[in-house]
Amino acid sequence: MQFLYALRSKGVTDARVLSAMEEIDRGPFIRGLFAERAYEDMPLPINCGQTISQPSVVGLMTQALQISPRDKVLEVGTGSGYQAAILSKLARRVYTIDRHRRLVHEAREIFEALDLTNVTAVTGDGSFGLPEQAPFDRIIVTAAAEDPPGPLLAQLKIGGIMVVPVGQSDAVQTLIRVRKSEDGLEYDELRPVRFVPLLEGLSREN
Ligand code: SAH
Repeated sequence: MQFLYALRSKGVTDARVLSAMEEIDRGPFIRGLFAERAYEDMPLPINCGQTISQPSVVGLMTQALQISPRDKVLEVGTGSGYQAAILSKLARRVYTIDRHRRLVHEAREIFEALDLTNVTAVTGDGSFGLPEQAPFDRIIVTAAAEDPPGPLLAQLKIGGIMVVPVGQSDAVQTLIRVRKSEDGLEYDELRPVRFVPLLEGLSREN
């Protein structure tokens, strides 16, 4: 895949992340007109007016999570399912949630076709997390919030890491990493990013 060559130069250097990204073909996650551009390092439109992230940003976010093979991971913002598929190669268990039922159904079809049996996709408002499966070792949010949502911070284990873009939806946002320890939360800013907004409630298209 063309963009695999670009990943290293854009800062994705973790060997496990690179091999997970080699294993997951981005092609099936992009339907319709833009399918032929699946191998470019570009964000692309998907159904329901949403966006599949740029591969190098997927790589950097995944790397920032420092996933271990025993981890249970929550992704908020399933979208195409591409990020979740990569997480499934690195973690023990992955839950991914999206407010668009259609996107969740389409992502499930791909997970089944690829035999990714450790990913569960759920329809719901991910700003409240997934209390029935909490707590999580790692949480990744792939839509921009004004602040890291409180319920997600609460569902992060001590020793856990969360990566989330924060800022106004129509501006450049900052990707931040939150580490939770016994002493509290520690934040660091990783890089500027641009994501669709984290919206409240289920999509009315559902
Ligand atoms: N990670 C995806 C890209 C995500 S695009 C991929 O790999 O393709 C952002 C997604 O966040 C959209 O699908 C949007 O529907 C979803 N989203 C926005 N607000 C949400 C919320 N409150 N709960 C769950 N999903 C949400």
